[in-house]
Amino acid sequence: MGAKKQPVHPLEDLIRVDRLPHIWCPGCGVGSVFSSCLEAIKATGIDYRKFTMVSGIGCSGRGAGYINLDSFHTTHGRAIPFASGIKMAKPDLNVIVFSGDGDLFAIGGNHFIHAARRNTDITVICINNLIYGMTGGQVAATTPNRAKTATTPYGNPETPFNLPLLAAASGATYVARWTMIHVRDLIHSIMEALNHHGFAFIEVLSPCPINYGRRNKEPSTQTLKNFQDKTIIKNGADPATLSMSVAEGITLGKFVHKEMPTQDECYAKVCLGEK
Ligand code: SF4
Repeated sequence: MGAKKQPVHPLEDLIRVDRLPHIWCPGCGVGSVFSSCLEAIKATGIDYRKFTMVSGIGCSGRGAGYINLDSFHTTHGRAIPFASGIKMAKPDLNVIVFSGDGDLFAIGGNHFIHAARRNTDITVICINNLIYGMTGGQVAATTPNRAKTATTPYGNPETPFNLPLLAAASGATYVARWTMIHVRDLIHSIMEALNHHGFAFIEVLSPCPINYGRRNKEPSTQTLKNFQDKTIIKNGADPATLSMSVAEGITLGKFVHKEMPTQDECYAKVCLGEK
């Protein structure tokens, strides 16, 4: 009897299997968002050589190391300027930033708002797990008010960012929010973002059972149940009205999708005199 043949993973051509096993904890949502991203890349039908992925530091930031495309694992908070530079040097590339809320909105917050303001033609996927996961569960710019973290043991006294509102107010021309269990919506949204001409931002809510759930007595299964039962899809909603509260319902959907001149188009027109 010959050895049983292992089935081929449907995303094997996009995964660096030599890097497995991955580092993500049991119950973590990052892997699910990562596979949705790969599914979306595959579904666009665009030549893989036309993509590149950039990540910063953090659990989500490991994504760039597991993808079988040109990819860059950059320093903390610097994924967006790195991606913007790639896009300026190679405008025909489809540049994806795959990173976390800590990386993109704390240390990297300034880079985020200015890339959105310039309408740089990149796709930013932010896995929001409400905390700094990899470094031990410190409070983040997205941690809910009163939530417990390693650095706010009595509860977070601050107000978190509304990420879609921040993106839209900064000038992003595609803005959406999903959870890691809304897989079909998420894949469709990433496909739209990859085909969008301009700065596209997708927030994906995802559990961190190890560093957020454990401290806030919220097991991963409860987070997933909240994602299933307490989310309301409101496409086109004003980002200023979005809720992140389980009591009031967590708002998901595509909130902004419009065409505006991109950073390179504005540069060519103003600085190079192109029509
Ligand atoms: S620490 Fe949290 S975010 Fe990081 S891999 Fe573990 S569960 Fe996921």
